[in-house]
Amino acid sequence: HRKPVNMQNLDERLNTFARVQHPIDHELLAKAGFYSKGEGDEVICFRCGGGLKDWDPEDNPWEEHAKYYPGCSFLLSEKGQEFVNTIQLQERKY
Ligand SMILES: [Zn+2]
Repeated sequence: HRKPVNMQNLDERLNTFARVQHPIDHELLAKAGFYSKGEGDEVICFRCGGGLKDWDPEDNPWEEHAKYYPGCSFLLSEKGQEFVNTIQLQERKY
């Protein structure tokens, strides 16, 4: 039998990138809470379930997480409310 996969675990998340080509550093993605769905560059956050795709090489996983899923409790516990606020304020500048 297979052991259950727990995406709360950083190494388990990192493992999901083993077979995919991704423009972003796999460790940075995994540390930001993301794991790969196994196809394309789409990733999912283990905590908020938020999905992100169409990555550019210069994208920062934490910043994208804060931009699209500012309410994620993993994001807030790791980076803090101020980081999220800063990203959200940047996004309002055109
Ligand atoms: Zn999240």
